[in-house]
Amino acid sequence: MSIATNIKTIQSQLPASVQLIAVSKFKPESDLMEAYEAGQRRFGENHAQEMTAKHEHLPKEIEWHFIGHLQTNKIKYIIPFVHCIHSIDSAKLLAEVNKQALKHQRKVNCLIQFHIATEESKFGFSWEEAVEMLQSPEFATWENVEICGVMGIATNTDDTSLIRKEFRQLKHFFDQLKTEYFPTNGHFKEISMGMTGDYPIAVEEGSTMVRIGSAIFGARNYGNAQ
Ligand SMILES: *Cc1c(COP(=O)(O)O)cnc(C)c1O
Repeated sequence: MSIATNIKTIQSQLPASVQLIAVSKFKPESDLMEAYEAGQRRFGENHAQEMTAKHEHLPKEIEWHFIGHLQTNKIKYIIPFVHCIHSIDSAKLLAEVNKQALKHQRKVNCLIQFHIATEESKFGFSWEEAVEMLQSPEFATWENVEICGVMGIATNTDDTSLIRKEFRQLKHFFDQLKTEYFPTNGHFKEISMGMTGDYPIAVEEGSTMVRIGSAIFGARNYGNAQ
């Protein structure tokens, strides 16, 4: 299947309210251009330098979504152009994003990443940690970040009932945060969940953004990276 066909097929399964983020990490710019020519404008990457290089070379209408663990010393590369950072996994990182965004006189969209999987290796806040950050006096002073919602990665498993439970948990966190901290904030509306293996479940459970790589571009060749 061609990249264009894959995008069309996936789009036809998504409700209009769900955004498709094409996860293009490790893929050559020619693949991204194929997707672009098929109408795709939102791309997800998980390495700062790789995203920065692609941003420099590819059309400027592209919206760049950062979806991987972001080291604070890499923020500066992406801050001038990134559309949304899905993977805010600590208060320290958000503070640093705010600081860099201020330098560039930008307000940067961010999602709070929750740890919803059973695997220990996945990054993200617990509910308590998120509340602690949102209630901290510093949080109120971070004017250069816009909290637009939440993100999560489900356990990598064939157990669909576990995946569904985890997505439901994330939706519940979103609803709670909306009620308690963002009731009048129209920006707080995104739930980034669902990948190639589990996006139909994520959509059923209320996803507003699916991050899909392999089903669009084919399997990735990681070498020894991840
Ligand atoms: C790689 C990645 C994806 C896409 O994974 P696929 O299974 O190829 O769709 C989605 N989200 C995150 C955070 C990723 O790192």
